[in-house]
Amino acid sequence: MNRLPLFFAASLLLVVACNSTKVTQEASVPVPTSPAPAAAPAAVMSASVGNGMRASALDSERYRELQHGVPTFSFLSAEQNAFVASEVARLTLKQKAGQMTQVAMDLLFKGDTYVLTTPAEYDMDKVQRILGDLEVGSILNHPSNNWVGPEQWYQYMQLIQNKAMATTGVPVLFGQDAIHGANYIDGATLYAQPLGVAASFNKSLTEELAAMTAYQLKAASIPWNFSPAMDVGRNPAWPRTWESFGEDVYLNLTMGEAMLRGYQGNDVTADDKVVACLKHFTGYGSPLSGRDRSPAYIPERQLREYYLPQYANAIDKGALSVMINSGEINGVPTHANRWLLTDVLRGELGFEGLAVSDWEDVRFLNYRYRIAENLKAAVKLSVDAGMDMSMTAAFTDFPVLLKELVEEGSIPMARIDRSVARIIALKVKAGLYEQHVWNPADFEKFGSEDHAALSLQSAEEAIVLLKNDGLQLPLKNGQTIFLTGPTADNMRSLNGGWTYSWQGENGDKFLGDYHTIKEALQTKFDGRVQYAEGVSFSREQNIAQALELAKKTDVIVVCLGESSYTEIEGNIDNLDLPSDQRDYYDQLVALGKPIVLVMAAGRPRIMTDLAAKAQSVLYLPYPGPRAGDALANILSGDTNPSGRLPLTYPRAANAIVAYDHKTVEIVKNGHNPLFGFGHGLSYSTFTYGDLQLSSPELTGSNSVTVSVTVTNEGDRAGKHSVLLFSKDEYASITPNMRRLRAFEKLELAPGASQRVTFTIDADDLSFIDIDHNRITEPGEFTLMVGDKKATLNYVAK
Ligand code: BGC
Repeated sequence: MNRLPLFFAASLLLVVACNSTKVTQEASVPVPTSPAPAAAPAAVMSASVGNGMRASALDSERYRELQHGVPTFSFLSAEQNAFVASEVARLTLKQKAGQMTQVAMDLLFKGDTYVLTTPAEYDMDKVQRILGDLEVGSILNHPSNNWVGPEQWYQYMQLIQNKAMATTGVPVLFGQDAIHGANYIDGATLYAQPLGVAASFNKSLTEELAAMTAYQLKAASIPWNFSPAMDVGRNPAWPRTWESFGEDVYLNLTMGEAMLRGYQGNDVTADDKVVACLKHFTGYGSPLSGRDRSPAYIPERQLREYYLPQYANAIDKGALSVMINSGEINGVPTHANRWLLTDVLRGELGFEGLAVSDWEDVRFLNYRYRIAENLKAAVKLSVDAGMDMSMTAAFTDFPVLLKELVEEGSIPMARIDRSVARIIALKVKAGLYEQHVWNPADFEKFGSEDHAALSLQSAEEAIVLLKNDGLQLPLKNGQTIFLTGPTADNMRSLNGGWTYSWQGENGDKFLGDYHTIKEALQTKFDGRVQYAEGVSFSREQNIAQALELAKKTDVIVVCLGESSYTEIEGNIDNLDLPSDQRDYYDQLVALGKPIVLVMAAGRPRIMTDLAAKAQSVLYLPYPGPRAGDALANILSGDTNPSGRLPLTYPRAANAIVAYDHKTVEIVKNGHNPLFGFGHGLSYSTFTYGDLQLSSPELTGSNSVTVSVTVTNEGDRAGKHSVLLFSKDEYASITPNMRRLRAFEKLELAPGASQRVTFTIDADDLSFIDIDHNRITEPGEFTLMVGDKKATLNYVAK
């Protein structure tokens, strides 16, 4: 993705084509296991983060080593560690500063930054400047205005890597934002955005999607993906809500882990594996105002409860890189937060990998956050805090200033060596010293039918049927349809940002072979669909003509919502839908026909009055390029919907309370969302038998099993996610009404039953106490699956 600074017009782009030779890959090195978690008494887990997600806290000795020496890495062999140390010893200070620098790919091409010539052509003077003179060690993105396939990427990468090897002897670490498929690689298969993936509540699908993305990236010789984002979107107005797995920490943790498995697996050098990047560490998803990168205020207890466990878990599972939160928390920009980036991330969570900055964030410490009077001071603050690599984007002053700071004695060489060691370690782990490019001809599944099928499945499972009064859906044979609204005939509303560009504005151009909702419905319901836009996102379009058409049909399918956006460009002042969309909707309602309301949006735009007047309501959280087909399948009944809300759908813009709220929220006019977290209907009825506990008592560090028999009482096969919640009846910190503790997705034939068993231990029932320790207090817990409940008594010993 390429971005123009805010003061320029935003326009983004890319390209592709190739022909290549495979470089032989050496045998991969087995991944040594991480250090065992420190033992902790059952009732007090002093590692402070966890919840089925125990932290691998470093002992103090190891922590000291991280603080004062060139680290060794538990994910490398002794031989590899020795190699890393020798590289650190070999490189000059200037080369080390270059290794800590990551620039946008545009800096290597002819034309102006972010408005390159098409087709993109390397400017060899620029290549010399970036890779030869500055000796930069990492590059991101794609050449703006150009979108090319794996063959061309092979050529791009070969030149970059050959130049780097000839200059420093260190391969370049190249990264991209492939958050729903490799969206900058022409021909790659995209799929649902993370919020849609979360709505599937399907762990194995999530892992498969990530593995598919890794395969697509590797086909283009790209070994590093800036995903998964596990931000826990707690403010639905936040314009990156759809880039997260929703509002719940356990859901973010679980889907993040599934994606991590899909990206990295056990051997990150494999053809379908890349290095993952957990982001954005941490607390990014909760800006107070809802505006992107605006201040968040998060007390340490909350930080440990909602914003650390997903990272602790993924780090424990071997995540090799993190990206730093671009926002500020409690007045401290995270890029300057030494406590978070060093004490917590390294010391507590035991993270040994690479911490990369977000886009231009070192500069932001100076001119946006204003805690550094100049750029040099900003560089020092961020490096002192614990950042290893600066994503400088289009600027190249970072390595120069960093070198000066070391030469002046302001930053010790030992500090630089630690970061450089982490960077080299990652390059070694990714196998880049042995193989820099991958032959696209070896990636036969790229753009295959198998990938297309996975994309369709992601779309079908992302769509949430929120309301179906009188079982209006599926549509009946022969019913005629009036299709209308701003999201009915464009790809942007189905795909969101990071789709062939940062803001996703090229979705329609590049996804032309896929069906919009209009095209899909016209195909599925041949001859039965009338269409008129009626209203754009914020302006009426020939409403009279639309109403005339509507009068002649049996059912009105109204597609409202949002276009694509991300980050600051997606800020809004009001979660309500624009009034033109609402006014038009009311005129359709006045016709008295049955209404199917389709809300296609990256965040829950308020639709309370509208939903009340519709017989059926569906939410489409950017289900990807196959969303039109998936919706047509659901409306026709060919697919039984199975998505469930990964966030609370608020009733009003000021009623922003997550599902895991405190009891006091329900006292008098309290929490009453339009649709609750986990809500999602099917065309089948799934019923639950009583919850069976292996024991009514849980003691110490033992576990109990909770089983429930799920039956499909309907007359069609369907998928169903079973969600297990717990409630701590009384606790020293006001307990949450419910917390999601486990989930599993089943597929059941009509009339079939299946027993699901979850295992629960004290850690699963824990919370962060007043002293910031993770504890489980003895007493009564209620376990809940749907309408079934059981009581579990926890006894500490
Ligand atoms: C975003 C990150 C992204 C990075 C690189 C930033 O603006 O916040 O999520 O990974 O750009 O494109």
